[in-house]
Amino acid sequence: MLADHYKLRYGVWAGDKTGHAANYDRCCASLHDKYHPGGYQCTRKRGFGPDEAYCKQHDPEAVKSRAIAAQEKSDRQWRARRIELAGQRFFTVLKQIADGHNDPRTIAQEAIASYLPKESRDGTE
Ligand SMILES: [Zn+2]
Repeated sequence: MLADHYKLRYGVWAGDKTGHAANYDRCCASLHDKYHPGGYQCTRKRGFGPDEAYCKQHDPEAVKSRAIAAQEKSDRQWRARRIELAGQRFFTVLKQIADGHNDPRTIAQEAIASYLPKESRDGTE
């Protein structure tokens, strides 16, 4: 039901104990910023998501897919950064191999594996 997505009152806080009644023409999302200590109702028109109670931006599916995309981007950046930081360790291993280490394949594989994402280390090979 449409009303289930809305708060009874938006913007209720110690300085405004009554806040504002929900406006059912607008998106049901409760937003917060530094100018609205109790939060406020989203000002966009509704029409998306469950019972069309959300605007396009606050549609729970859109919020979820943006969060997943942001997490994936962050993970990619972190993996790239870890490889950059691996330089010293890789150099040490390379030097051991150049100096005639008895098992160059194993130390190289261990060094590489320690920088791969966990899921690609498990169960493969
Ligand atoms: Zn909204």
